[in-house]
Formats: sequence, structure tokens, C-alpha cells
Amino acid sequence: MAQEPIVILGAGHAGFQLAASLRQHGFEGAVTLVGDEAGLPYQRPPLSKDYLDGKIGLDLLLMRPDAFYHDHRIDYLAATRAEEIDRARKTVRLASGERLHYRHLVLATGARNRVPPLPGIELDGVCYLRTLAETDLLRDRLHAADNIVVIGAGFIGLEFAAVARAHGKNVHIVELTDRAMGRVVSVTTSRFFAEAHARTGVEFGFGAQAARIGGRVTSPMGGRVDHVELANGDKLPADLVLVSIGVVPNGELAAAAGLEVANGIVVDGELATGDINISAIGDCAVFPCDHAAGHMTRLEAVQNAADHARCIADRLVGKAHPYSALPWFWSEQGKLRLQIAGLTQGHDRTALRGATESGEFSVFCYRGETLLGVESINRPADHAHVRRLLAAGRQVSPDEAADLSFDLRAAATARPA
Ligand code: FAD
Repeated sequence: MAQEPIVILGAGHAGFQLAASLRQHGFEGAVTLVGDEAGLPYQRPPLSKDYLDGKIGLDLLLMRPDAFYHDHRIDYLAATRAEEIDRARKTVRLASGERLHYRHLVLATGARNRVPPLPGIELDGVCYLRTLAETDLLRDRLHAADNIVVIGAGFIGLEFAAVARAHGKNVHIVELTDRAMGRVVSVTTSRFFAEAHARTGVEFGFGAQAARIGGRVTSPMGGRVDHVELANGDKLPADLVLVSIGVVPNGELAAAAGLEVANGIVVDGELATGDINISAIGDCAVFPCDHAAGHMTRLEAVQNAADHARCIADRLVGKAHPYSALPWFWSEQGKLRLQIAGLTQGHDRTALRGATESGEFSVFCYRGETLLGVESINRPADHAHVRRLLAAGRQVSPDEAADLSFDLRAAATARPA
């Protein structure tokens, strides 16, 4: 299927993987990868983990070294922003004014930090954690800080808190809802993690709302953060504030081009937009998800970005198939490793395999009798078996799941009757 040139907008996990997979799948035509960040494409997960902690350097963050792009004839345009899509002419206008022609365009524009409209949000010392540049700034600030306030107890806020506490900083997490990672994990997992962080000295304010970030004037140009004021009037001292309240999908280019955008760029079961010449993948795409009863779903996970990319690469070399990969995710918070297989949102009952007190357990999440997904804490074998089980459409009952003598591996690998 001659679809060249293929232009990919966004050089994150999804964009990079698509360019690499096209070559792996034997695509011979021109591939242009356009990314608005400086430098080579890199992995985001270590930003809030080993890179922030100083355990690994930039070399281990990079997806591939420079030579890869040359050797695989991937025309990578760094620090280059795409500003407009002209669907009639099949061109993309770059910030420089240059226009790129495409046969097929793939939007892999990801997501950006959600910025709350708080007074004081512009103060020096208010930081974010999504890009490499933001992480480098945050890492410098972390070393100099004593008191840190994290706004938002999601994955990134908690991963950052674990690193900051390990560096001996005072960390206070302000969370609007009543629990940690509440949007994505079960109450059991949420409580376990909040308690584990609290034991290391992290302070939590649940049901608390940041109302204002206060600062002191340091120059005629502005000021530096020195506290966060909550809606109840409490003031938390802070010389560093991390805002980690989630992301907004980058759908503006698509919307301006007349494509449907609703909490992400809307695509069909093969990840195509309403224009057959344009697809969307990764964090920016909302798609009908087999593992969420077909509901339109937008995921923020490396697995999703990479598997979306492979699905599009197949289509562009003439092997189209519906997207059906099982979602999975991981997070590392200090010594705790959380792995999630499937999507556990919407469950109405759980079965516990192992004991929370041991720090090694899995929470099997069911809706009725149907296993939706499993959260494994420091039990990587459970995670591996469950991924296989769910991908094959198999089930285990809550009683089987809770019985440690039940052979999960055998259940995952059993031949269909
Ligand atoms: P992105 O990685 O956001 O890449 C999109 C790129 O497109 C960006 O570089 C953006 O600047 C660029 N772009 C946007 N608009 C334009 C334009 N107009 N022109 C040119 N370029 C443009 N997931 C996990 O599964 N496990 C983890 O442990 C984990 N940890 C994470 C830790 C951190 C700190 C972060 C930020 C994310 C983490 N994630 C994790 C999520 C995972 O990194 C994302 O799901 C993944 O990066 C999504 O890839 P993407 O390519 O869709 O989007």
C-alpha cells in the first residue's frame, strides 16, 4: 500500500514507535517525524523515577541514538512545531512557514500539563513534570528546596513525592478528592499506597483544595513561591510546588482542521479519524476500547502509545486490523512497584490475592462476575499471568483469585477446551 510520504506529528512514545515500526514492517517510503521538543526523542517514565533521582543520565532516556534516524531514513525534525493542517491540499504548515506534503498524516501530539487557574501560579518555584526540560528544572529546584507542596495525588505526584522524601525533603500532598490515584485504582490499592507514603513521612491533605500560591517579591520582574494557601485558609510553607493535576490532550490542530475532538482526537476501531488520510495515536487519541466494553477511551500509558503505533504501522503496510491490545501500566513509588493489567475502573467488587500487610498482593477487580483488571503490588508474576489471561479473554473467579494455591499460571496458559 503506497502511502508515502507519511508525516507523523509529535515525537513522543507513539510518534517514535510508529516511525521505527514502519521500517521494521518493511515500509520503504519517506517518513518524517516532527517534534516540537529539542533534542532526540526520549522516554517519559524515568523522568519521575530514576532520572529525577539522578540514578540515570540522558543517554539512558533516549529512545535511540542519533545514528538510528539516519540509518533508518527517518527524517526527524526536532524543535519544530506543526501549526496547521490543510486537509484539502494534504499539507502541514510548520512554524517556520514551510509546508510538508503527506499521503498519510498521523497525529501523535500527546498531552500537556493541566494548569489550574490559581493566583500565584506564575511564581518562580512552581514546577511541572512532563517534559525533559521541566524535569531538569525541577531536579535543580528539588536539591535547593526544604518544603515541598505537591498539588494532586496522582501517579506523577506520588512518584515525585517518593523521590523527594528519599532526598530528605518535607513533602505535603494536597488532593481534592478523598484518596490517592482515585481516578484509576481500587480503594485497597489507593489506601495501601497512601499509608506507605505516610510511613516515609509524606503528609497528605485529602479533600483539600489549593486556593492560592503565595510568594515574596524577589525582583521587579516577579516573585518566588513561599507558601500554598488552601481553601480552608491553612497555609503550607513551600519553596517548591509541583503541580500534578493531570493533563489535557493536544487536540487543537485536529479540531482546527475540522476533525472531531472530544477529550482527545476521536478515532475509530482502526485508529483512523473521520478523514481516511489522517490517524491519531497515543495520549491524544480517544478510541473505542475492547477492554472497556467498547466505550470511547483515552489512555495515558506507554503500552497504549506503542501498541497504537504498531497497529497503524500494520495498516500503512496493508495489514489493517482493529486495535484490540490489552491495556497495561506500571508505576514505581520508592520500593513499591504497581502494575495494572486491564482497566479496573467501574469495578463493583474485588478479591485480594496475598495480604496487604506483606506489601506483596494483587487486587482482582470485577464488575459482577467479570474480571476487568488486576492491580499487582510487588507481585510481578501475577501481573504477567493476568496479562496473558485477560488478553486471551479468560476469566478466574473471585474465589480462585483469592486462593493462593490456585495456579494462576496454569489458568493463563491452559489450552481452550
Ligand atoms: P507524548 O509523550 O506526550 O508525546 C507527544 C509529543 O508531541 C510531545 O513531545 C509534544 O511536545 C509533541 N507535540 C505536541 N504538539 C505538537 C505539534 N503541534 N508539533 C510538533 N510536536 C508536537 N506511562 C506508563 O505506562 N508507565 C509509567 O511509569 C509512566 N510514567 C510517566 C512519568 C511521567 C513523568 C510522564 C510525564 C508520563 C508517564 N507515563 C507513564 C505516561 C507515558 O509517558 C505517556 O502515556 C506517553 O508518553 C504518551 O506518548 P505520546 O507519544 O502519545 O505522547
